[in-house]
Amino acid sequence: MHVVITGGAGFLGSHLCDRFLRDGHHVIAIDNLITGNIRNIHHLAGNPLFRFIHQDVTEYLYLDGPVDAVLHFASPASPVDYIQLPIQTLKVGALGTHKTLGLARAKGARYLLASTSEVYGDPLVHPQTEDYWGNVNPIGPRGVYDEAKRFAEALVMAYHRYHGVETRIVRIFNTYGERMRLDDGRVVPNFIGQALRGEPLTVYNDGKQTRSFCYVSDLVEGIVRLLDSNEHLPVNIGNPREMTIGEFATLVKQITGSMSEITFVQPQDVRIQDDPSRRRPDIGKAQRLLGWQPLVDLEEGLRLTIKYFQERVVA
Ligand code: UDP
Repeated sequence: MHVVITGGAGFLGSHLCDRFLRDGHHVIAIDNLITGNIRNIHHLAGNPLFRFIHQDVTEYLYLDGPVDAVLHFASPASPVDYIQLPIQTLKVGALGTHKTLGLARAKGARYLLASTSEVYGDPLVHPQTEDYWGNVNPIGPRGVYDEAKRFAEALVMAYHRYHGVETRIVRIFNTYGERMRLDDGRVVPNFIGQALRGEPLTVYNDGKQTRSFCYVSDLVEGIVRLLDSNEHLPVNIGNPREMTIGEFATLVKQITGSMSEITFVQPQDVRIQDDPSRRRPDIGKAQRLLGWQPLVDLEEGLRLTIKYFQERVVA
């Protein structure tokens, strides 16, 4: 196959490039590098199956030659990033989805949208099943991401229904692993960076809010299986092991062996506004449909991620 991956220099995009190349496919990565980093794909330079295009996917996309699959992964994806880049976040979710769907349609390619558990907002249904419509504040700081992804899902369904494009929608829950940006503000790089530097781990609010963390290789496997399937309705991919952020801080401290203390802080800003209080994927659909479930336990995945960050943290 010839596979186009937008956001190909980002955390998830670069792992997808690796996976499709390993499976023997041609890969074209497109990225404007505003949150992605060329270092994530540096090791692919010179690979004859790989090509990188430095472009903003909200602009017109023209590609020579065949394309069999388009995976749209370009977007600022951490709350701190999309709060700093609100217009770009809205544009890439809306215009970028439109352009990439247009490319898929023109080439007769299969299309996969990276959607998100954020479409469920601060969920009133727990764990979250795909048929839950969500509880999103459209005008809050997270609205730029949440509503762009919700619009993107609607657009994908319209291209499927109206133009007959073969589409897939993956709703990605919190994912971590090598190549996350140390400064993206998310809880995994924040806590690991703080633990490695001996600084206090900053738990926001009372730390009772929950998340469920999926290691990147499990996510990539789920995405590949979804792309190969016939399912055009959304599928959750994530790890259902749920814990409080307070418990997560203790775990990071244990695994790093850090002497850091754990502090509870109340940032008086958008970092905690509309922070979902609970999040856990119901993965029954992925299990039934794709025969998929996560294989890497959190302790193991964290050890691998910590090793990656250890090589990059400057004390
Ligand atoms: N969080 C925290 N300390 C930090 C960063 C994040 O307590 O230094 C909390 C945040 O309030 C949220 C959870 O960790 O409840 C996950 O935040 P993240 O930014 O990783 O992603 P989200 O799941 O909110 O999109």
